[in-house]
Amino acid sequence: LSIWSAVPAGPPDPILGVTEAFKADKDPRKINLGVGAYRDENGKPYVLNAVKQAEEILVKQNPDKEYLPITGLPEFTQAAAKLAYGSDSVPLNESRIAVTQSISGTGALRIGGAFLGRFYPHTRTIYLPVPSWGNHTPIFRDSGLEVKGYRYFDKKTVGLDFQGMKEDIKNMPEKSIVLLHACAHNPTGVDPTPEQWKELSDIIKEKSLFPFFDMAYQGFASGSTSHDAFAVRHFVSEGHQIALSQSFAKNMGLYGERVGAFSMITADPEERARVDSQLKIVIRPMYSNPPLHGARIASTILRNDELYGLWESEVAHMANRIIQMRDRLHENLVDLKTPGEWSHITKQIGMFSFTGLTQPQTKTLAEKAHIYMTADGRISMAGLNQHNIDYFSESVSKAVK
Ligand code: PMP
Repeated sequence: LSIWSAVPAGPPDPILGVTEAFKADKDPRKINLGVGAYRDENGKPYVLNAVKQAEEILVKQNPDKEYLPITGLPEFTQAAAKLAYGSDSVPLNESRIAVTQSISGTGALRIGGAFLGRFYPHTRTIYLPVPSWGNHTPIFRDSGLEVKGYRYFDKKTVGLDFQGMKEDIKNMPEKSIVLLHACAHNPTGVDPTPEQWKELSDIIKEKSLFPFFDMAYQGFASGSTSHDAFAVRHFVSEGHQIALSQSFAKNMGLYGERVGAFSMITADPEERARVDSQLKIVIRPMYSNPPLHGARIASTILRNDELYGLWESEVAHMANRIIQMRDRLHENLVDLKTPGEWSHITKQIGMFSFTGLTQPQTKTLAEKAHIYMTADGRISMAGLNQHNIDYFSESVSKAVK
């Protein structure tokens, strides 16, 4: 008998499993709207020109391949923190932000979870919005935190359940950890407004909750990195000691390079040094030290004015193409007299749209139209383009009728 004979087969990943089904489909009309990766006007993966130019610079510099320090490339982590917190950030300029490079956003969340699991001095319960990115629950559960939820999305309005959200946050035990999507909430595409963020900051302060921001889409929501950092910067200016996960997967298109950062606000440089020392002890047995290449690319872009300008224009281009697709999809669904209300498609923000399609409808779309999305009706807007938007709209309209 094999040692592993009792290992049960696990379920496929709810998001990456969609790509597998898509790959197996041989129909030329097939569309993959599952995974959240940007596609260009022709449905092709897109390597940013800023990234290509940074790589050319790096080749000329001919750098060595020595190990990075445990917390990564210092020029990169400093530039990443500046991008998130802003160059005028008080804690940044007072050297009291502890920051480490991470294996993209997922790794940042995992480091944060592990650090909180070890050192958070209050009840180690983290509250996630319902729904949230599917990987949040296993990440924090595997980090040793208890995971609970708060109301976020209103199915009736296909918008934010702000009342429910506030009620649930007010009812959390004091000093609980609350996870917030900084912008472009995944999967719903529904964000609080700046006014609502201000209210949330006040309530979270009153209850002494610990805000943990997940910022996987800075720049991708509005096209402007500083606009998308509003919530993070507001909370910091209000004195919250936040934790922050950053990913450069989407905004720099560096998905497989795994570039990210995790940071926390501390009281002063002495405390920051203590926190830094423990971050190293958390990371060292996990993966020792992070990969070089992607961090070098991101740091080259963030620290070079010309490349930074090019990057900003490319982020805006990606965000705007997605916004155009929202307009086209909405227009098409209305023109096709599709039953229901579709204005949420244009109101939602970022990579995804939570269409409101039901599970049987998504199943029909896969089987009859070769269109693949997650079972919750979430579509990656970036998978739509001028060539497939009409076919997609007609197929959705048929599935709903
Ligand atoms: N958080 C959220 C909300 C996300 O949508 C994603 C990517 N799908 C991530 C974190 C992490 O992605 P990555 O590890 O590729 O940076």
